Amino acid sequence: MPSARFSLLKECRYLPGNPQKQPEVIPSRQAMRKRLACLLTLCACLLALIHGAPAQTNSTPAPVVLHAARLLDIETGRISAPGEVLVRGERIAEVGSAVSHPAGAQVIDLDDTTLLPGLIDAHVHLFLHPGAEDLQTVQESVPQRAIMATLAARADLMAGYTAERDMGTEGAGSADTAVRNAIDQGLIPGPRLRISGNAISILGGHEDAIGYNPEQRVLPNATFANNSAELVAVIRQQIKEGADFIKIYETGEDSFRNRQFSTPYQYTEAELSAAVAEAARVGKRVAVHATGEPGGLYAVRAGVASVDHAYQLSDETMRLMHEKQIPAVPTFTIEEYFAEHPSSPEEATWGQLLEFHAQEFRRQLAAGVPMAVGSDVGPYPHGTQAREFVLMVKYGMTPLAALQAGMINGAKLLGWQGQIGALKPGYFADIIAVPGNPLQDIGVLQKVTFVMKGGKVYRR
Ligand SMILES: [Zn+2]
Repeated sequence: MPSARFSLLKECRYLPGNPQKQPEVIPSRQAMRKRLACLLTLCACLLALIHGAPAQTNSTPAPVVLHAARLLDIETGRISAPGEVLVRGERIAEVGSAVSHPAGAQVIDLDDTTLLPGLIDAHVHLFLHPGAEDLQTVQESVPQRAIMATLAARADLMAGYTAERDMGTEGAGSADTAVRNAIDQGLIPGPRLRISGNAISILGGHEDAIGYNPEQRVLPNATFANNSAELVAVIRQQIKEGADFIKIYETGEDSFRNRQFSTPYQYTEAELSAAVAEAARVGKRVAVHATGEPGGLYAVRAGVASVDHAYQLSDETMRLMHEKQIPAVPTFTIEEYFAEHPSSPEEATWGQLLEFHAQEFRRQLAAGVPMAVGSDVGPYPHGTQAREFVLMVKYGMTPLAALQAGMINGAKLLGWQGQIGALKPGYFADIIAVPGNPLQDIGVLQKVTFVMKGGKVYRR
């Protein structure tokens, strides 16, 4: 994140000796005043640097007080009425029923709404859009897909998602690095992102482009790695290109016939362990697409960060996930969407698969498997994925447990624990407002009316 000092220096285009300076024959009085102001601020900055104190500049935004009818503490489930948050810069300074209102503070009255921490989606695809399937890599250029990803990021932010884990560009290489960096630099609106680059899969496996004329060499939706050494090499390349974590396809193609679910594994436990060790060498983690067994068990034994989809998990896998606190990320919304929008006769079975998954989900909850909230948005429209909270409640969680899975477990999974996922002093000011009370009706998360990220208002 660029410091205030650097951005101040960049703004001083009138500084003598600045190569970008436009020549002026007779400097106007206004230009002279600007030069003087810049010189004075630069002196102040240099003094601050010498003394090690943060530079105070005129560009420091005024404190903001958010006021609403209610505020929900999702750690305790306690509602404050009214609710207020004092925001200074990009961080939360105070939270309560009545916070201090410093002189010059901007007060934003959000009326009959509930303040909550910004939503976190632990499984998104910014580089996918409805209708795009295997041939997206053939029909759409990577620059085109990157433009669409910036629109997707904006749509998710406006829906209240202030942080997301992007689970693979699906054949667009490391183009997500540019999207994440542009958001971090404030060039485009979007959630805070953890990105994986292109996901990793095996030759002829779940994400390979099978069924096309081999002479056409249709690009797969993932990068191939076929053994431990290749996994290590691909992981090194992806981290070089900007990946925050590694996404591996561990299972597929799935089969669901007569209510019997099965899916082949793609990597052995030893291969996954090699991948986890290589990522860990540089402080990073591995997340897996794993819909069933034995791939789920191999993944949790290897120590992955999360098991995504998790339609079916064995008793031993659930026990280990509870013990190691590895969350499952159910992604119900995509299953519901495919059930309601089948593009082939086989996809008509998605409804039965969703029912089956819901039943297994209740077993997972009973076994104490931690959950995180991930929607797999992308194949269905970005910005609509708060439906995932509704489905997690429909299938067995309380609204508060679903909110905690989303924001508390989500913050941990994204590596931002203690920074996001709660309204607490010192945390990033990632704050949303929803009408009504989400503990009584989780569906209000689909009607976000206010979005602040890092102290900046994006939707009001
Ligand atoms: Zn996915």
